[in-house]
Amino acid sequence: MRTPVESGPATPFQDWVERLARPIEFASRDHYAHLGAVKNLSSFVATQVLSALAQQVYPKGIEARLLSLRDLFIDFHPALSADEQRRRLQAAASIVTSLRESASAMARSGPAGGDRSSAARELWSIPIRYVKGVGPKRTGLLQRVGIETVEDALWTVPWRYEDRSVMTPIGKLVPGMTASISGTIAKCEAKRTKNRRLTVVEVGVEDPTGRMQVVFFNQGYLEDVLSVGKRVLMSGRVIAGRQGWMAPRMDVAQYEVLGEDTEATLHVGRIVPIYHETKGWTSRQMRVLIHLLLAEHAPALRDHLPVQIRARQRLVPIQAALQEVHFPSSGTDPRAMERGKTAAHRRLAFEEFFLLQLALAARQRSVQEEPKTLRFNPRNPLLERLAKRLPFRLTPAQDQVIREIFRDMISPKPMNRLVQGDVGSGKTVVALHAIVMACGSGYQAALMAPTEILAEQHFRNLSGQLAALGIKALLLRGSDKATLKKAQAAQLASGEAQVAIGTHALIQKGIAFKNLGLAVVDEQHKFGVLQRKQLIDKGYRPDVLVLTATPIPRTLAMTIYGDLDVSVIDMLPPGRQPVRTFLFGESQRRRAYQILLDELRRKRQAYIVYPLVEESEKSDLQAAIQAAEQLQQNQLAEFRVGLLHGRLKAAEKEAVMADFKSGAVHVLVATTVIEVGVDVPNATVMMIEHAERFGLAQLHQLRGRVGRGADQSYCLLMTSGIGRGKGIAGQGGNGASHERLEALVRSNDGFVIAEEDLRIRGPGEFFGLRQWGLPEFRVANIVRDVDVLQQARLEAFSLVKQDPGLKAPAHHALRDAMLRKWEKKLALGSIS
Ligand code: ADP
Ligand code: MG
Repeated sequence: MRTPVESGPATPFQDWVERLARPIEFASRDHYAHLGAVKNLSSFVATQVLSALAQQVYPKGIEARLLSLRDLFIDFHPALSADEQRRRLQAAASIVTSLRESASAMARSGPAGGDRSSAARELWSIPIRYVKGVGPKRTGLLQRVGIETVEDALWTVPWRYEDRSVMTPIGKLVPGMTASISGTIAKCEAKRTKNRRLTVVEVGVEDPTGRMQVVFFNQGYLEDVLSVGKRVLMSGRVIAGRQGWMAPRMDVAQYEVLGEDTEATLHVGRIVPIYHETKGWTSRQMRVLIHLLLAEHAPALRDHLPVQIRARQRLVPIQAALQEVHFPSSGTDPRAMERGKTAAHRRLAFEEFFLLQLALAARQRSVQEEPKTLRFNPRNPLLERLAKRLPFRLTPAQDQVIREIFRDMISPKPMNRLVQGDVGSGKTVVALHAIVMACGSGYQAALMAPTEILAEQHFRNLSGQLAALGIKALLLRGSDKATLKKAQAAQLASGEAQVAIGTHALIQKGIAFKNLGLAVVDEQHKFGVLQRKQLIDKGYRPDVLVLTATPIPRTLAMTIYGDLDVSVIDMLPPGRQPVRTFLFGESQRRRAYQILLDELRRKRQAYIVYPLVEESEKSDLQAAIQAAEQLQQNQLAEFRVGLLHGRLKAAEKEAVMADFKSGAVHVLVATTVIEVGVDVPNATVMMIEHAERFGLAQLHQLRGRVGRGADQSYCLLMTSGIGRGKGIAGQGGNGASHERLEALVRSNDGFVIAEEDLRIRGPGEFFGLRQWGLPEFRVANIVRDVDVLQQARLEAFSLVKQDPGLKAPAHHALRDAMLRKWEKKLALGSIS
């Protein structure tokens, strides 16, 4: 029936159209005389459409026609009226005709016809809405749980398993137990209650050891499903039989009717997977969907992990891993499944880690291959002069890190280094060395801080030192007058000024440098604010140094900073006393104020910090302002109380900070703007209100504001919520938040605290990583699977060393999978 115009072999799509056309046209022939003879049109069309969509990517118009074809037959059933059946067949026949035309048009225009999108589509990436039985409504529900594609669905692993594989003989059922039974339906009666409101289906089930009763309410259709003689599996809680009934009853949670064939059972008679549910989407439905997807797609799945790696790491094949993780074979320990410690979980986790590490390895390589024209001079006289001028001796840790930075800067490869150091460990002076190295070699440097207050402080601390060496530094502020900004821009463009200090916006604003050689990014505890790529996009290729006060546990650093070289300043300058930390409930407030007052009377200063979260910003701000007034009038009447928050004008903020620094203000009431970097050594008390509302990292940062001088300092954590349910969403329940505060009381070591936080909150919530868009995994867990992560990292880096672009044909699928996942998130621009 093909149109005769064309010559040459039919394309696969033309073949497909003909295959599809056959039953539809047959059923329509002779005024639909053969309609009754065509069986299973519904599933035939659905399967055909799906396989067509899996073959290639079609122009939008064709895709739409394919989908409407499927919709025509989705509930096509002999029970539909004859008219309706005809109407649909007619519609289908006209779609087939137009598809046939499009197919031959595509064939004529040939592969060179410009449709580059017709590359083979991975079966894997099929949108979930194309799947049989998944209509628009279900598509929406599934999207809500993060499932967009067949792949997403199959990688959504159960969070729990129930062993329903062990059958209890009916004669052994005891009320109270949860059990699974296998038996035959001996009785099934549907009755209406007197007022006819309720249908009750009473079912008797027998096995050789006894009989049990089951009652279903308002499920009249079960009369057909559970008809006498059928074999069933049931699972649920056993309850005592009704008065006068000997047999026990079961409150059936799941049942399954066994077919004549030994069809696989899904919901009973096995270790059953339990999935997270959402409104309108049950675990049972998910089970059915997964079962179908596994049957249809798993066989065609290719394992894209290289064979040698699979062998070396003893990884089970992907098909087996997916099958097992959803439907464990009998005899598997459900608890091990739940802990995620099985060969199947390991295989899946490995792949997730491996793809990320490949991406990081590729990104690292692309940085290393960037041309570096910078020539730094390690013998420059400014460095010597700096050494002589330092007011203190560097700690061995600072010395070591400065050496590592210098080594990077002189090397022919670009520097991309992260310096981790706890609050107060002295990162600023390390940055100063790098800046002086750059300026002493004739380059400019930029120092970027997360807030203006911090930028100002860096400027105050550094500009004097720099000026003494003849280096001119500028403070760039958004709030400055346009004329000033213009003058500053000119100085940077001409090279008259060598150092620019400002917020992260410094680069985004597109300030032009004459010859930028170094970018220092002070991230404090926020990650990834600035990507190297942004600098490159602006036309600069400076060496990059990132400072962070977040004590990131090693494993986590590997996942997120996997492509940076990491230095750690792991000691504090000498003479610091650890801060003493106390946790106070509301009833102990007076004791807390006593400590505060004692210190103030000893001429020390204090911070009182209030939380400020975006959602309740207004009321939070109000609380802080009122508290400041209250304290000034009452408890702290003999002292001067200052107020600092984000709504103040820059000049006002500066004035308050200056007063606090000079000692004119004794107590600084603040919202979290002071969290980062503020340095007033005479402050010895950090009082934190509603401590439970802060993240552990933030609290540790805040605590780092005191204990900067030689005196004993105190951190007073005030919490109203001890023992009561006042936790904050996303910060774990109240129990967990209390446990976190305890961790702070116990330790002053940022790394210990970070490990604790990771353990208590899990990787998802750790330091609020999620909101910073850091890698999330579906199966892998960076706490549980550390060993897998390490192996995956080794394998990935060594593979990228062998085949940098993953260009070998054997690695193509792997490369695609990696890019699909991480290209956007990691800005892998230069490697794709
Ligand atoms: P952070 O790592 O939190 O940024 P800073 O660089 O602000 O820490 O340093 C904290 C304080 O310690 C500053 O007052 C700084 O002058 C001082 N400091 C830094 N290094 C040393 C050192 N080696 N000996 C003594 N004091 C130091
Ligand atoms: Mg700092």
